Amino acid sequence: MKFICAECGCEYPLDGLDYRCPCGGLFQLSKAPGETVGAGVSLGEVPTPVLRRKLGHTEVYLKLDYLQPTGSFKDRGAFVLINKLLELGIREVVEDSSGNAGAAIAGYCAAAGIRCNIYLPESTSAGKIKQVLAYGANLVKVPGSRDDTARAIRQAAATTYYASHVYNPLFFEGTKSLAYEIKEQVGIPDYIFVPAGNGTMLLGAYIGFRELGKLPRIIAVQSRNCAPVAAVFHGRTPEPPAPTVAEGIAIGQPMRLQEMVTAVRESHGDFITVDDDSVLRAQAMLGAMGIYIEPTAGAAVAGMLQYFPAGDNGLNIVVPLTGSGLKK
Ligand SMILES: [Zn+2]
Repeated sequence: MKFICAECGCEYPLDGLDYRCPCGGLFQLSKAPGETVGAGVSLGEVPTPVLRRKLGHTEVYLKLDYLQPTGSFKDRGAFVLINKLLELGIREVVEDSSGNAGAAIAGYCAAAGIRCNIYLPESTSAGKIKQVLAYGANLVKVPGSRDDTARAIRQAAATTYYASHVYNPLFFEGTKSLAYEIKEQVGIPDYIFVPAGNGTMLLGAYIGFRELGKLPRIIAVQSRNCAPVAAVFHGRTPEPPAPTVAEGIAIGQPMRLQEMVTAVRESHGDFITVDDDSVLRAQAMLGAMGIYIEPTAGAAVAGMLQYFPAGDNGLNIVVPLTGSGLKK
């Protein structure tokens, strides 16, 4: 197993400090056939359940991915990444995240006995910081935006392994398991609605379904207040980002923007945007059905309601619910 630069094809070892190529290219994972990652560290991952529900006029499958060990789908990525780093003998990592990815990496590092330093924006909600601290991670609060945090960590990553949920392809190797589970449970859907910020779920689903031989139409949902990928997808200039209740997808400059655009194009899908009111209404709608999700997960539901206002004509539609409402 090794990393390969998507631009120039240079090869890099999995355990080095390089997390992207000096040419500017991002890493992809290269595996020999049959090569897998061990599963020595487990927090009790389960195939998450699906519920058939009618939302608005449309029947959908809700995939309850917030029922992972740390409360979000990011555990899929952390499980594979941290297990591989343990195999490689990595003893300490740094990571930056608006919350769920940081909690997932911190949780799996705690289980693996790997020292973990999490960089978070100062504004991150108290519940999420509490969770990272409970896992014994060293918390570094960075003033300013999510992108300021990204800049701060570049410095740290010069000397300590960067267990990034954005740069490190091992994370996407984990999130792709979502596609395999969905296929087992309901078949390959016609449509999948994913909240999109850095694209960890979008690209994981894309990689997984591509390996399975068929792509659903991927409808990527961004917040209207922070929609750089939707803008590029539709040939517009991105507007400056503004705050949004969907903090998990509030990413002003996603590193894998072009990959996300390409994946959605290839799937014959679309990028759409939703406003904060519709996100909160979607969150409340699911709450009233006994399903407690964080606002970012509500973005995918709001996107589905907006995309299929009059019903679906019997399509197989999956909406993964990314994170638990207990996080906030
Ligand atoms: Zn390169």
